[in-house]
Amino acid sequence: MSNIQPILDKVLDGGRLTAEDATALLQSYDIARIGAAADEIRARKHPDNVVTYIIDRNINYTNVCNVVCTFCAFYRRPGKPDTYVHTFEEICKRIDETIALGGTGVLMQGGLHPDFNIEWYEDFLSRLHALYPNFQLHCFSPPEIHNISLISKLDYETIMRRLKDAGLNSMPGGGGEILDDEVRKRVSTKCSTQEWLDVMRAAHKVGLKTTATMMFGIGDKIEHRVRHLQRVRDVQDETGGFTAFIPWTFQRENTALGRRITEEPTGIDYLKMLSVSRLFFDNIPHIQASWLTQGLRLGQTALRFGADDMGSIMIEENVVSAAGAHNEANEKELRYQISEAGFIPQQRDILYKYINRDEIEKLDERQSMPLKQLSVAFAD
Ligand code: SF4
Repeated sequence: MSNIQPILDKVLDGGRLTAEDATALLQSYDIARIGAAADEIRARKHPDNVVTYIIDRNINYTNVCNVVCTFCAFYRRPGKPDTYVHTFEEICKRIDETIALGGTGVLMQGGLHPDFNIEWYEDFLSRLHALYPNFQLHCFSPPEIHNISLISKLDYETIMRRLKDAGLNSMPGGGGEILDDEVRKRVSTKCSTQEWLDVMRAAHKVGLKTTATMMFGIGDKIEHRVRHLQRVRDVQDETGGFTAFIPWTFQRENTALGRRITEEPTGIDYLKMLSVSRLFFDNIPHIQASWLTQGLRLGQTALRFGADDMGSIMIEENVVSAAGAHNEANEKELRYQISEAGFIPQQRDILYKYINRDEIEKLDERQSMPLKQLSVAFAD
């Protein structure tokens, strides 16, 4: 096992980690020293001692999907009896509920529907934007954009520009999983690594911010995870469009892959990945803890291993919960966990702007539910 201290000294002195450095850190079991370095870098980047969170909701407008991912328990093949497409009214009802709970946006993603072309998405977004002009639409993912490009025969940049014009505020980094085709092609027929990265380049080029994600533990090795980090950092060097990096571990319940995989990432693996992400991404401001997949206690611990954001209170989530992530929290609980880790909890919006609830309530009188009522259980 190599001595990792020179690598940590380099990054603490302002140097940039190489892929070899990241590999050595991920191979090490010295999680305390790696975590301490990540905590130090987090504190330098965010000296106000604030940890942010967002109130939003994941709405999955359809579970119809025309590709196969063996790690997914959410999708249904077109034509199967338990498929759904939410009506516009159903989506508005969910948005109204989110606004009533102090929410500022929605994360909306779906399966890859074989019939939804660019006009369907433009119509959908523009109607929502007209009804909720101050509510942030953080929607879709590179695989969905790639699907639109196949259906409508348009390049990524044209699609992203048209979606932005229709009201899209930003795009989540979903569908990243492991950005290395050696792993990716074994577990999914969705878009390739290059296509995922090119969609992100196009989104950033038209002025949209996005996040980047990593789901590891799907048969990947350290070398694949490091290539993923390197590819995301390279795009960020070009575009500067990623606001945050969000790693989490594969959730195996009810998935075909889960029945085959014998080893899954541990809490140590998660904290190490998170810390190394903070150290490697000198060009991405925010690293997000994933309490939803790791549980509240490990999610809270992540705040001392480089994370500066606790993610969402997640009023609704359907994808990872279908694969076994059953953790729940409300705003009060999340704020408590942040405070007890020694930080000041602060609500933010999708673009990491701090939210003053009084200001929001002035924007829309439907958001007048008192704070104490936010501690209800958020089961849908
Ligand atoms: S992860 Fe997304 S693209 Fe893959 S099967 Fe599930 S819904 Fe479809």
